[in-house]
Amino acid sequence: MIRLQQLCKCYQLGDEPVQALDHVDLEIGAGEYLSVMGPSGSGKSTLLNMLGLLDTPDSGRYWLDDIEVSALGEEARAAERSRRIGFVFQAYHLIERLSARENIELPLVLTGNAPDERRARVDELLQRLGLDRHADHLPNQLSGGQRQRVAIARAVIRKPALLLADEPTGNLDSHSGQGVIELLEELNGEGITLVMVTHDPAMGKRARRRLWMQDGKLIKDEQDAHA
Ligand code: ADP
Ligand code: ADP
Repeated sequence: MIRLQQLCKCYQLGDEPVQALDHVDLEIGAGEYLSVMGPSGSGKSTLLNMLGLLDTPDSGRYWLDDIEVSALGEEARAAERSRRIGFVFQAYHLIERLSARENIELPLVLTGNAPDERRARVDELLQRLGLDRHADHLPNQLSGGQRQRVAIARAVIRKPALLLADEPTGNLDSHSGQGVIELLEELNGEGITLVMVTHDPAMGKRARRRLWMQDGKLIKDEQDAHA
């Protein structure tokens, strides 16, 4: 599903060049569940942003479902991103003046889906995620765990094949965090490819495949044996 070949990204921090990604090779199959771990500044978020087509490499190539996305222009890349990829961030990034329902619905509004279809799909997700009683609440009326569930619902409302999560439990207590992880894992169980950046070893260990980064390099790729 995903193939990265010799991907490089350099940032300029003042006078200092920083090699955020240093010749990264990686293949990910459809339906896999990966965690990405490593010290702060090792390139985890940069890798996730590359996978999510939020950032472009300086060199190297990226194929997503047989499309060489690293060769696409800005507009085509944005189209692939919204069709194939969902994002979940540590800080939720919900729109504060929209209700839970309106936040979840937003990607469907942007693609011009009909109102009754939008409503049906949002209702189904709200129910599944245990948020139906909170549909009309604003983000500031929700707990952290509920906000992150709304953000996850928004990320998957268009049924992306790839779900990217950057420290999705970073702002949550362990109980709420556990619920969020279980929800992500349930979605992965239904076939969505899940890549999660975490600095929490206990969270990272739950993934069947675990990557470690250091100084922009992939230094370890560890996989559970399959039954
Ligand atoms: P991690 O997610 O592992 O903490 P990042 O991918 O965020 O690491 O960052 C990797 C390196 O790239 C760090 O040294 C960071 O300072 C640098 N970096 C990341 N994004 C930018 C940016 N937009 N501008 C300048 N430097 C950046
Ligand atoms: P979750 O497990 O979804 O994170 P919590 O255990 O954090 O939920 O919260 C339990 C209940 O307390 C929730 O149903 C929520 O309505 C309420 N609650 C928690 N935090 C807040 C808040 N900041 N504002 C309003 N209600 C809150």
